[in-house]
Amino acid sequence: MSSAACIFCKIIKGDIPSLKIFENDKVFAFLDIQPLSRGHALVIPKYHGAKLTDIPDDSLTEILPVAKKIASATGAVDYNILQNNGRPAHQVVDHVHFHVIPKPNETEGLGIKWPAQ
Ligand code: IMP
Repeated sequence: MSSAACIFCKIIKGDIPSLKIFENDKVFAFLDIQPLSRGHALVIPKYHGAKLTDIPDDSLTEILPVAKKIASATGAVDYNILQNNGRPAHQVVDHVHFHVIPKPNETEGLGIKWPAQ
């Protein structure tokens, strides 16, 4: 199920370009166009639904393992996994998406490589 008007459905179809980092039959992942940190990614079900409660369980269960792989692949020690539902909860795009937001560690964030102790 997809929605003709949905920007993320268009990204899944390839009608809008994206920096794709993962795809299988149920899940698609790509880099966020306005990253909050280097490597900020979005993991989405291919099934179109605005809110978490609209998505079938068999799609949802595939998402967290992908988010985990992406978080690991960034090399970040610390990261957020976020998912917003509804405007008061800061959802802007009405297709369920999980943000994977790596947090630079203190030394890398400052561009400093401390000598090994
Ligand atoms: P929300 O506030 O949780 O709905 O987040 C929506 C996210 O989608 C934001 O971080 C946007 O930067 C991101 N976004 C919107 N349009 C695009 C796009 O075309 N490509 C990649 N990311 C997008």
